[in-house]
Amino acid sequence: MDLAEEARKGSQLAGARLIRLLEERDPAGIEGLKALYPHSGSAYLVGVTGPPGAGKSTLVDHIVAEFRRRQKRVGVIAVDPSSPFTGGAILGDRVRMQRHATDEGVFIRSMATRGQLGGLSRSTYEASVILDAMGYDVILVETVGVGQDELDVVDLAHTTAVVSIPGMGDGIQAMKAGILEIGDLFVINKADLPGADEVERQLALTLRLREFGEDDWQPRILRTIAVKEEGIVEVVDALLDHRRYLGESGKLAPKSEKRDFQLFVELLRTGASKKILNAAETSPSYRAVIEGLKARRIDPYSAAEALMEKLQCEI
Ligand code: GDP
Repeated sequence: MDLAEEARKGSQLAGARLIRLLEERDPAGIEGLKALYPHSGSAYLVGVTGPPGAGKSTLVDHIVAEFRRRQKRVGVIAVDPSSPFTGGAILGDRVRMQRHATDEGVFIRSMATRGQLGGLSRSTYEASVILDAMGYDVILVETVGVGQDELDVVDLAHTTAVVSIPGMGDGIQAMKAGILEIGDLFVINKADLPGADEVERQLALTLRLREFGEDDWQPRILRTIAVKEEGIVEVVDALLDHRRYLGESGKLAPKSEKRDFQLFVELLRTGASKKILNAAETSPSYRAVIEGLKARRIDPYSAAEALMEKLQCEI
């Protein structure tokens, strides 16, 4: 039996191996993805993002438990941008696995950037397709909200929950504007600590700057004390409300289509530029243009234009 088939039948080992192969850009991983793709498309993807130490892992852990109580199979993709230096992803898997380790209905994977930041959103997307095809109903993507790449990662989710904590009053302003813009749900965790009111005020103020149409989803602000399991049921209810909203407003399918389309365009772009560069380098005009550039007889714009024109008949 091949890996894709094993994964389909529920082998977490096979699923994990496929994800690893995809991360390594191994063609066997892509073949597995192609085989599994037709079986994907029904999972609900939730992004959970926020600064380090906000309690995301604690929250996700309890959200997983709550979805399990509701008979949902849950996949978790924990994106750990710091891992190339700390080996955090591997350690993270072990720590996170413990509680749900014996539960067949939970599959947790950590993704490392392996120094290749640009590829992170693609690897995360690919992992989500594998988990989706394996039959996980809900896929939680947990990521530290810092850079553009993480923004791309959460952008693949149907619903995005942004986690903040008391004491972040000014931090809210400094938070990536993009993250505030894509949040559907704002969770103020550590609500047991002083300052929750202030963060809520700041969040509400910032949200007021966002422009909403009549039929748009109105983002919600919720408080949790993850360590005491307080507010978790409400978070899961709010997530499902948003999911229902997406379904009823016809916005669910376009979100999924957008992800596929983005990857398709990225693959085309990479393929096309490789092909053009190859053709350019073997073209008789290439050397002449390079010589022209070196001697400053021609500027880089005209050089590229001239070559592109030539290649149109040569490719
Ligand atoms: P992450 O880095 O965002 O994944 O955060 P963690 O889940 O690892 O939590 C960071 C620290 O905050 C841990 O020591 C948690 O026990 C603690 N923590 C999480 N939730 C709460 C909470 O609701 N209240 C308090 N006081 N501490 C919390």
